[in-house]
Amino acid sequence: MIPFNRTVYLPSALGYVGDAVFNHKLAGDGKYTKLCSEWMEKHFMADKVLMTTSCTAALEIAAILLDIHEGDEVIMPSYTFVSTANAFVMRGARIVFVDIRPDTMNIDEEKIEAAITERTKAIVVVHYAGISCEMDRIMDIAGKRGIPVVEDAAQGVMSFYKGHALGTIGDLGCYSFHETKNYTMGEGGAILINNLKYLERAEIIREKGTNRTRFYRGEIDKYSWVDIGSSYLPSEFNVSYLYGQLLAADEINQNRISVWRYYYEELEKFQKEGVIELPIVPEGCIHNAHMFYIKLKDLDTRSRFISYMQNKGIHCVFHYVPLHTSEAGQKYGCFAGEDTYTTKESERLVRLPVFYNMADGEKEQVIENVINFLVQESHVSYKDKENAGK
Ligand SMILES: *Cc1c(COP(=O)(O)O)cnc(C)c1O
Repeated sequence: MIPFNRTVYLPSALGYVGDAVFNHKLAGDGKYTKLCSEWMEKHFMADKVLMTTSCTAALEIAAILLDIHEGDEVIMPSYTFVSTANAFVMRGARIVFVDIRPDTMNIDEEKIEAAITERTKAIVVVHYAGISCEMDRIMDIAGKRGIPVVEDAAQGVMSFYKGHALGTIGDLGCYSFHETKNYTMGEGGAILINNLKYLERAEIIREKGTNRTRFYRGEIDKYSWVDIGSSYLPSEFNVSYLYGQLLAADEINQNRISVWRYYYEELEKFQKEGVIELPIVPEGCIHNAHMFYIKLKDLDTRSRFISYMQNKGIHCVFHYVPLHTSEAGQKYGCFAGEDTYTTKESERLVRLPVFYNMADGEKEQVIENVINFLVQESHVSYKDKENAGK
């Protein structure tokens, strides 16, 4: 059986976790939290990176920092994970879903302006599959109106847009280190503070609403409750597991890219024949091979594809059911304008297994079966056409 994902494990991890266990405290903000945040600040040229318990937690911190209240509106794509919306709904916001672009599956930057009202308090973009949204245009639209931008860069660690690391472009950026992501600590994340006016308050919110971070730095002689907040610090137990992967980030990234490229090259001919569509990486974007998806003709073809692959022992999975069609999405949000692409494109998309250290035999087996399905499929539709002509 080839799983959809196999969590990254580097043998060096046990050394770091052991070090955290035997020599250091296991609560948050110890040696490894410092090492990981400093590594990211340096490599991504980020002003400030604060480790969190998840990307969900990072998004929640962002919603508190932006003072989201009852009656505010927050713009985002509907094609995303629930946390992107939930973090803002929990603060009372109404979600305004904007359609995606069919090529990248990212929010359509040209449809954002029409969704903005006086109530718009934030624009949240999601870099789907680690491929960047059109950030220049989005920052321009938001900047003109003074609306802050949050990047849900959960899938975008080690991806770049015109030389800038994803997560460092908006006012705030959110990373995930969940076990399904490229770099992992089981459950974990980070918030990137790119607009430093949010920094002091971010530290407080992350420390249960106290100024304990300033106290640790020796800036004040006792700490106290100063704001709302929660327990958003990850344990050193988790962060120490991540550290070795950051040190090996280039190797892990290259390894994933090689799988992605292999799939792309093997399947390109089917794209040329119009049987499938492959991911598009716009100019100026460097991606991290977080995901490899193909788009089939329609929902029915996709269902047959998934069960075909399952029968061959290969786990392929579809992705988000658009949030505006869900029970909570209807209650807490609305779609701005027409849903031209969100539902249609999401129903055709299926993801192939991509993970670090995939064996050559595994990659080949995936491709061989995808090709067999596509050949069989084009044959079927060819026969259908013949029959239809009779
Ligand atoms: C994975 C993911 C999240 C949630 O990350 P957690 O660390 O599990 O909270 C949020 N948004 C997107 C786009 C994701 O892919």
